[in-house]
Amino acid sequence: MGFSTRQIHAGVTPDPVTGSILTPIYQSTTFVQPSVDEYLSRGYSYSRSANPTVAALEAKLTDLEGGVACSAFTTGMAAIQAVFLAFLNSGDHAIVSDVAYGGTYRLCTQVLKRFGVEFTFADSSKPEEVKKAVKENTRLIFTETPANPTMKCTDLAAISEIARAAGVVHATDNTFLTPYYQLPLELGADLVIHSTTKYMDGHNATVGGAVISNTKEHEEAVRFLQNSSGGIMSPQVAWLTMQGIKTLSIRMDRQSANAMDIAEFLEAHPKVEQVRYPGLPTFPQYSLASRQATGYGAMLWFEVKGGLNAGKILMDNIKLWSLAENLGAVESLITHPVTMTHAAVEESERRRVGIIDGLVRLSVGLEDAEDLIAALDDALKLVP
Ligand code: PLP
Repeated sequence: MGFSTRQIHAGVTPDPVTGSILTPIYQSTTFVQPSVDEYLSRGYSYSRSANPTVAALEAKLTDLEGGVACSAFTTGMAAIQAVFLAFLNSGDHAIVSDVAYGGTYRLCTQVLKRFGVEFTFADSSKPEEVKKAVKENTRLIFTETPANPTMKCTDLAAISEIARAAGVVHATDNTFLTPYYQLPLELGADLVIHSTTKYMDGHNATVGGAVISNTKEHEEAVRFLQNSSGGIMSPQVAWLTMQGIKTLSIRMDRQSANAMDIAEFLEAHPKVEQVRYPGLPTFPQYSLASRQATGYGAMLWFEVKGGLNAGKILMDNIKLWSLAENLGAVESLITHPVTMTHAAVEESERRRVGIIDGLVRLSVGLEDAEDLIAALDDALKLVP
């Protein structure tokens, strides 16, 4: 069945007791066992291990990503942490895309390094750089495409090939494009990660995460870690996330169309220095972005002529767009990654990977494109 049908129906069956069309919120810590000999006969024992509402969301995400199983987490970072902890031991080496989300970079450099894990931050937009970085003790390659906030793209099939040849796991963060536009498991990745906080929820209402695996063994490793460390999503959040996913395709299409209009407006504006949106033919990796995904998404960045100071005038004065962290929801947001989402990345590293001081990130929402453009136009008029 098509994506829009599956985003509504996958994982959900009317409640057998009441007929409720929506999966109930099973707000229960524990599940009564019929007898000692029938322990777990109904599949649930304790909500840190598994919960029926969370399981319905996991089944939906498994279906949409074309995986074997899914584990849902309290946040996207909890999902990323679980993947690192499930597949790495002290003394192991991981290759992480040098343009991954700032929180991922912080987890590697300020937390996992303390436990003797070694990292190489490689330019994953150049597969040969990743290949060169593989060592005897490499166990994991972690990518994110398009990356937050640079929009740099990684060739998932090429990296998966390198991972397969080296016998290491390739995990990729699919938060920006979602399975509606990009299917990493089909391109050879082993694990897909989401911050469901973003497009899956889509309404700035929850924080959550998920890992979708391509094999039972990978899923068991992630699930074991989750049960041992306790990062499972709550039933309330799972329920809200499921409601959000039902409109994912329609939101993605409309938000992406808005993003294209805005990117074209900005590119033609005399006060704008540069724009990066994968759907613009001027985007440096336009052909990869067009080949690997069926849409370009609703994230972009631009730089105002005059750099950081000019950008600050725009961000401090713009109407309609909210200056806030987060992305992917129906409300349009404007963000300054250097002081907000990527403040944890050292200045030298930010410069190296292209997170320039004047970079203004846009998460384009579901409002009317004309209103969003008018607000940008008015704010740009205030820039000298
Ligand atoms: N991955 C990407 C691409 C993100 O943008 C974010 C958050 O901004 C995360 C992961 C972390 O997700 P969360 O904020 O849900 O922990």
